[in-house]
Amino acid sequence: MAKILDGSEIAGKIKEELKCEIEKLKEKDIFSSLIAIQVGENPGAKIYARSQKKACEKIGINYKLHQFKEDISLKEMEEFIKKLNKDKKVNGIIIQMPLPSHLDAFTLQRMINPLKDAEGVSPANMGMLVYGRPLLAPCTAMAVMEIIKSTGINLFGKEAVMVGHSDIVGKPVALLLLKEFVTTSVCHIATGERGRLPYYVKEAEILIVAVGKANLIKGEWIKEGALVIDVGINRVEGKIVGDVEFEKAKEKASYITPVPGGVGPVTTAILLKNTIEATKIQSK
Ligand code: NAD
Repeated sequence: MAKILDGSEIAGKIKEELKCEIEKLKEKDIFSSLIAIQVGENPGAKIYARSQKKACEKIGINYKLHQFKEDISLKEMEEFIKKLNKDKKVNGIIIQMPLPSHLDAFTLQRMINPLKDAEGVSPANMGMLVYGRPLLAPCTAMAVMEIIKSTGINLFGKEAVMVGHSDIVGKPVALLLLKEFVTTSVCHIATGERGRLPYYVKEAEILIVAVGKANLIKGEWIKEGALVIDVGINRVEGKIVGDVEFEKAKEKASYITPVPGGVGPVTTAILLKNTIEATKIQSK
């Protein structure tokens, strides 16, 4: 029976360490701030912003949400981001998703000063990952690595399968695993459509799934003793579930993350960590 990896517990440890770092910065008169930008009235984004604010305030980061109307132009957004980039009191910037269709997320993220990129999604920060020198890396990918490392398993030469190849999760997780000398395979929709997912998953000593399809990964595919990280978030009959058949998978895995309560809380903690990291880099 697998050990359930408690994301809130791991997040709690990260936040305690951050509190100490914030105290040290305060002694040098350095204060940290995170600015969030939201366009339109998405209820999910609002809930997320509220939880960001709470998490920031709890550990001593100043958080401010700037809300814009749905019809704001790309030019106006660009001007606003430029202003934040220049403002010395702003350490971290985050653009809440989703954006209205006339605003391209990649175009906007590219405008953020990479040293203020709290989400670690700008091309410059992604590039640092390719070189194995993560500076501010994508929060969920870093959260996955924190959870894997919390188990204390020796990663050198382990065989991992990453299901999902998105820019914010699958690809950066694969690069972070390579940095640890993990032999890494990446699966995606075409792997699924060819019916090859079971073939890969059955070999995975470490399995990470970030797809967004409930119960895509069958419990019987899990390798005996595997470490399973489920990033997926799906709403099924009013309940939040992951991408992995949890009840069956936990019979075979040695470690598994629950959904909710696994990757999610650690992702928020990493957003705070990136903000502090950004503050430290900027104060040098
Ligand atoms: P995305 O939608 O950008 O990408 C989905 C990936 O899944 C793609 O690589 C696609 O090729 C692959 N895929 C689709 N169908 C497949 C199939 N049948 N077989 C194999 N691969 C398939 O996804 P994302 O933004 O990385 O998010 C993935 C999931 O993770 C979503 O449920 C999202 O809500 C969740 N998520 C959770 C957190 C968190 O903090 N817990 C953060 C980010 C994303």
